[in-house]
Amino acid sequence: MPMSDIFAVPEMSQDNRVRVYRGSRLRVCPNNFSGPEEFDGMEVDCYLLVTDRFRLLCDTLIRPEDMSTVFEDISADPVKRPLLVMNSHADWDHAWGNSYFTGERTMPIIAHEHCRTRLQSEKEQTFLANFQSSYPNHFHSVALTPPTITFHDRLSLYGGDLTVELFSAPGHCQDHIAAWIPELRLLLAFDAVETPVPLIENVAGVQSMFTTLERFASFQPQHVLCSHGGTTSPGIINANLTYFREIERRCRTVLTRQIPTEADLERASTLIDYSLDEVVTDASRMIEIPDPLDRSFYSGAHNANVRYIMQWLMS
Ligand SMILES: [Zn+2]
Repeated sequence: MPMSDIFAVPEMSQDNRVRVYRGSRLRVCPNNFSGPEEFDGMEVDCYLLVTDRFRLLCDTLIRPEDMSTVFEDISADPVKRPLLVMNSHADWDHAWGNSYFTGERTMPIIAHEHCRTRLQSEKEQTFLANFQSSYPNHFHSVALTPPTITFHDRLSLYGGDLTVELFSAPGHCQDHIAAWIPELRLLLAFDAVETPVPLIENVAGVQSMFTTLERFASFQPQHVLCSHGGTTSPGIINANLTYFREIERRCRTVLTRQIPTEADLERASTLIDYSLDEVVTDASRMIEIPDPLDRSFYSGAHNANVRYIMQWLMS
């Protein structure tokens, strides 16, 4: 079994009822596949919320082994409270550790109903099989494990001292959810916000992403945790929203003089004259940008965001 490299990040938490764990590894997406040796630098966080009535583990990271470190930590707690698990969405870096919570360690797993659909789909099974055949030392123990409790719009968990309001927050993907803890004015945004930019799933996700970010902003959180990027600043919401609005503005300008062709859309960020360098410069006025930045990943992500927003405006 490969070693887990999950560790606690206490400096990310403003309250001892919120624990942050981080895995330093692996960045990949279906259209931009690269090997583990190229994954160095990717970080993905998960959280443990400790309330008077239960503990809630938010996301299970990449492999069941990743959860052993977290579970050891949880098991050392003197006060035993029931453990609930949730998935922010079905993406591989958030839900592939789910199978740790089966068998002798069975726990309820909460997620959006579409997350369950995804984790039962042939598409995700094929995606996992490709990982396993390419990297058997890393992913052999992963078994897609769907959530056992699902909801569509919102679900409130009452922990006594803390309330966890789970709600649908699509845009990054259709099944994406977020968590608002009003007593702490803490928003767990997962992949809906990111430094320097979040990723929109497709054209259908554009309006959803705007709506989700505007809803986040309306909470006026004091702290925001996201899965990648290591920030706690609520300024990330406005930075991401400003970024998408700037893309929309530049796309509208282009559309006043031409209808982009498919070839134009292939290089959408060039079409609207908005380079990743300029994006990062703009964002750095509002939030801290990770250094070093995974430029090839975020260049691809930025270009896709521009393309989807342009196609959304053209539709
Ligand atoms: Zn992610």
